[in-house]
Amino acid sequence: MKKNFSIAFFGVSMALLLGACSSIANAPPTNTPARVSRPTIVSLTFDDGDDDNFAIGPLLKANSLRATFYVSSGLVGSKGYMTWDQLKILQDDGNEIGGHALTHTSVRGLDAETLKRQICDDRTNLLDRGFKAVSFAYPFGSYDENAKKMAKDCGYAGARAVRGGPDTIPPTDLYAIMGLPYIVDDTRLGKIERYVIETRRNGEGWVILIFHHVCDSCDYFSVKPDVINGFIPWLAGQQSKGNVKVMTIGEVILGNVSP
Ligand SMILES: [Zn+2]
Repeated sequence: MKKNFSIAFFGVSMALLLGACSSIANAPPTNTPARVSRPTIVSLTFDDGDDDNFAIGPLLKANSLRATFYVSSGLVGSKGYMTWDQLKILQDDGNEIGGHALTHTSVRGLDAETLKRQICDDRTNLLDRGFKAVSFAYPFGSYDENAKKMAKDCGYAGARAVRGGPDTIPPTDLYAIMGLPYIVDDTRLGKIERYVIETRRNGEGWVILIFHHVCDSCDYFSVKPDVINGFIPWLAGQQSKGNVKVMTIGEVILGNVSP
């Protein structure tokens, strides 16, 4: 992303330079301002590691997009959840696997020891299994200052909350990255597209979409297959037009965090 920005800035610099040269040559000055139109950054996040999420892998791959899957390591492989092998396949396709607390408990108000177990032990499990675990997502979007500090101390480069988005690039608070409201059972395709379109219309921004189950009304926290099957190709189309750039959470924050 930095490279693209550099190219954009280079382009603007050249335009200004050429404009200056034109003036020197007494050519009529152009009133057209140099216009930088950076793509809106969009991140797709799937929380909880539900087993129905695995089917999203081929859809993303077919559209050359990548997403972030937040999983609770203590639940991986149990009934209703993806297995370690499935997560490995998703990661091998370029998706990010991030932490979501050991047993998907709310990390708000926990004592230090429990907090450490929920966030650090969870990350260690992911690392031990070969996952990069760059970013974390607070279960239920619930956190406090202790949880933010623990996410940082456990080695995460950033942590995603829920509401408040769209966020900015770089985000206002790396340990309280703001997403859009949860996509739920009755969220229509047009509404998800508007989250992207309106952010772009308002200027720069980071649109983080949060999905849970992918199913036909199996749960309130779900997106219908028809909706996601319509949205992903639409988003890929927006990317090919240069309107958006779809990145995982890890890609965005590592691109903006000082080493
Ligand atoms: Zn969750």
